[in-house]
Amino acid sequence: MPLDPKKRRPLTRPRERAQLPLTDKPRRGGQGVVVGMPRVGHGYDIHKLQPGGQLVLAGVVVSQEVSPVAHSDGDVVIHAIVDALLGAMGWGDIGEMFPDTDPRWKGAASRLFIEEVYPKVRAAGYRLSNLDVTVLAERPRLAPLKAQMIASLAGMFGLGGTINLKAATNEGCDAVGRGEAVAAHAVVLLAKAQD
Ligand code: MG
Repeated sequence: MPLDPKKRRPLTRPRERAQLPLTDKPRRGGQGVVVGMPRVGHGYDIHKLQPGGQLVLAGVVVSQEVSPVAHSDGDVVIHAIVDALLGAMGWGDIGEMFPDTDPRWKGAASRLFIEEVYPKVRAAGYRLSNLDVTVLAERPRLAPLKAQMIASLAGMFGLGGTINLKAATNEGCDAVGRGEAVAAHAVVLLAKAQD
């Protein structure tokens, strides 16, 4: 509870608390303590599927029967997360940072995108507070693979932060529901941290 700087009593009335200046300055020290204003970002991605090859989601091979039509490995979960990270930082989008005209990213494992972007986020003084992903696929059924996908993502972000992943179908609707595409949504919250 913030204290009135003059009277040293808790500021309990909403009107009083709203008058406090917004600040990014740390109020508490300590290793990794989250301070300042958080940043939120959202990402969405969808890829068409084709027969054959393999489907990778969150860095985990989930099918050997279908593959995404994509320049990289077409991992929609990671693409949505990278867009959410870039959105939170105000750094544009994945297409600007990793153009599909660049041969470096042809067939690239998408975890490289997180390994490229997240250190920049950290260098800017932010850390993952939490990440929430919804992945939509009719086939294969992803529920049994959720723990593996979460562990895979946790490995990309290192220690800290909460990672949640929901796997759903599209209830038979549209291209995702017909099994012709996979899609993912991601929301991240980044918080300022002190080392
Ligand atoms: Mg994509």
